[in-house]
Amino acid sequence: MSEVRVRFAPSPTGYLHVGNARTAILNWLFARHSGGKMILRIEDTDAERSTVEFEQTLLQDLAWLGVDWDEGPDKGGNFGPYRQSERLGIYQKYAHQLLETGKAFHCYCTKEEIEARGKAALARREDPHYDGHCYYLTEEHVEQYKKEGRKPVIRFRVHPGEISFSDLVRKNVQFDGSHISDFVILRSDSTATYNFAVVIDDALMKISHVIRGEDHLSNTPKQVLLFKAFGFDVPVFVHIPMILGEDRAKLSKRHGDNQVRDYREKGYLPEAMFNFLSLLGWSSPSGEELLSRQRFIEEFDFSRLSKSAAIFNSEKLDWMNGWYLRNSDIDYILDLGLPFLKKSGFDISDREAIKKCVRAVIERIDRLEQLPDWCRLIYAGEIKYDNEEIVFNEGSQKVFIRFLSEIENISQWDKDAFLQVVKTVQKETGIKGRFLWMPIRIALTGKEHGPELPVIVELLGLENCRKLIKKALKKQG
Ligand code: GLU
Repeated sequence: MSEVRVRFAPSPTGYLHVGNARTAILNWLFARHSGGKMILRIEDTDAERSTVEFEQTLLQDLAWLGVDWDEGPDKGGNFGPYRQSERLGIYQKYAHQLLETGKAFHCYCTKEEIEARGKAALARREDPHYDGHCYYLTEEHVEQYKKEGRKPVIRFRVHPGEISFSDLVRKNVQFDGSHISDFVILRSDSTATYNFAVVIDDALMKISHVIRGEDHLSNTPKQVLLFKAFGFDVPVFVHIPMILGEDRAKLSKRHGDNQVRDYREKGYLPEAMFNFLSLLGWSSPSGEELLSRQRFIEEFDFSRLSKSAAIFNSEKLDWMNGWYLRNSDIDYILDLGLPFLKKSGFDISDREAIKKCVRAVIERIDRLEQLPDWCRLIYAGEIKYDNEEIVFNEGSQKVFIRFLSEIENISQWDKDAFLQVVKTVQKETGIKGRFLWMPIRIALTGKEHGPELPVIVELLGLENCRKLIKKALKKQG
């Protein structure tokens, strides 16, 4: 195979999932490493579930990750169209070619008939798969079915025998053809099935390597049969092991957010996401975990792809994101952070002031959605209380008065000093638990929830704390 040509082929039936994003990244790294081409193909044959909006968001999410493509629906190229819905005529032409050569046949069976025969086969302890019924139809039978108004599908005829293909992760893979039934390639409405469309596209688009999730492994023997039936070159396959949650179950909704968009909205940086996803199942020979895009491209090689499933470790992602937050250009971080601050009601017109603030808190956060809570502390003067009742009730006021007198002559102000002061306030006022902590938290941060209080107190410094507690008192009258 001369030129490396790979494709990422999402179905626009939802937002980009992190698993698919990783597949896209591995395709991209391989293409860029080999000086080959990356093709984006939109698999929108499921007309009911595919939408133009989802297609748009897929493109945006890929671009956000820094994954680009050389040919695609928006870019064009010599092998288009790159949307399957625009290729239906091509699939029909090729399906008829198989009919003419006797490698495929019309099948008039209804779902119920096939199911009933499957059940009967099971009762006889035989394989319940499609029994080749219509492969043997006589002309009369066909006429009869047509008269009944039945609309046929086209099935590909599978013969027993070994089907093997090479996979860069699993090496030589073998399947037994006798376990695969004659499968549908063209539905009765003349639309192509996934297995058929993908082979025609991969062949006509001259794809050299098919790199996709391991969940497609069982489709591959069918696709290999189709490649061979047409005399097309069979591409090299790479079935990437799955991503599991920390509980070792397949990553799913149950594990919380798993669409790229969710992470973007929480303020994960594309660089961190790219780095993290690239290392799910792949490792650098250096063992290093923080790698530039360029290093990934240079070092990428499928021999270092793990054969076992990768675990999605959110803590590691947070750590990585924190690292990128602290090690990126502050203006870049500011550009990404401003929308988060704006959404939380900050006046962002004074960029320099906000920059100072972001610089001060950047050590404390590992994603941008945490910025407002921390920046609010620096903008102490503008505090608005989540719950005024708590601040202004009698018990809270007692706490504040005592707190102020305790810090009057204090010289050192840090977490320990603060904890000591609160302890004394508790002893002196007899107020404890949330009745003690909550008013202090709201007085200092305006919020009922947020980062750890001792850490905030240290960041605020003694003078700000004094001012804020005083403010909580003053308003009373
Ligand atoms: N459209 C398929 C999917 O989203 C792609 C399968 C393939 O890469 O062959 O899973």
